[in-house]
Amino acid sequence: MSDIPKISFNLEYRSTQDDAWYTSGVILDHHNQLLRVKFKEFPEIQHDEVFSVSDFSSSDDVDEFRRRFRAETVPVEDNECTKVIEGMTVCAAYTEDGICRYFDAIVDAVYYKEHTHEKCVCNYLLVWQHGPGENNISATKLEDIYIIMTYAVDPTVAEFIKLVKDKLRGASSQFSLIPKSSSFSKKSSSSGTFNMSQARISLMRGPVLMLDILKVKTTFCSLCLLTNNDYDIITYLELFLTDREEKVLPPV
Ligand SMILES: [Zn+2]
Repeated sequence: MSDIPKISFNLEYRSTQDDAWYTSGVILDHHNQLLRVKFKEFPEIQHDEVFSVSDFSSSDDVDEFRRRFRAETVPVEDNECTKVIEGMTVCAAYTEDGICRYFDAIVDAVYYKEHTHEKCVCNYLLVWQHGPGENNISATKLEDIYIIMTYAVDPTVAEFIKLVKDKLRGASSQFSLIPKSSSFSKKSSSSGTFNMSQARISLMRGPVLMLDILKVKTTFCSLCLLTNNDYDIITYLELFLTDREEKVLPPV
């Protein structure tokens, strides 16, 4: 842990502590099992936020994590103040108890004024989208407003997300015996039918596969015959079913 490689602070990260955005950098740690987020303004290790690949239990968790990162927002030049328009989402400084932090806000109204190129004197009304001022309106000057840039996921964050997803797939790919009392089992074996015209199976270990209906039929028939219908063996796969009914299981 003492040999933290050099980090480039080229990201913004929304802290889990206060939901504010901070200029940050990331590194993979502990044989890539940890992603360490370091704060440019708070470089001491005790301020780092650290995520383990084991911290995630669903793809929703992963999505939420991914949304915590973005490209650095950029200030607006005084002579470009008309770039900030109504309805735009921006990042802006929010000061509370003498502490300035950065949160996202929607520009509710703009009051342009004539001014020199050097100093914008326009006023902007912002509705805060999160943080302590959430849903409140504040009057803000251009100097406190930053433009949100488009963002391709940072390569280190992307690598970590890939490891998390691999782990989630690995945890979910084992075959399981589901007793007939389970809702899934009732649905499939009591009627001998399975509602699907197309089933998309995302195998949780390995790449997402698209299987056509015939392959799904074959798979389920084989599994049911193998187990003499005492149990339905299903994998922890996600089945996305459509409306049309198709007979898939053999009649019992
Ligand atoms: Zn202006």
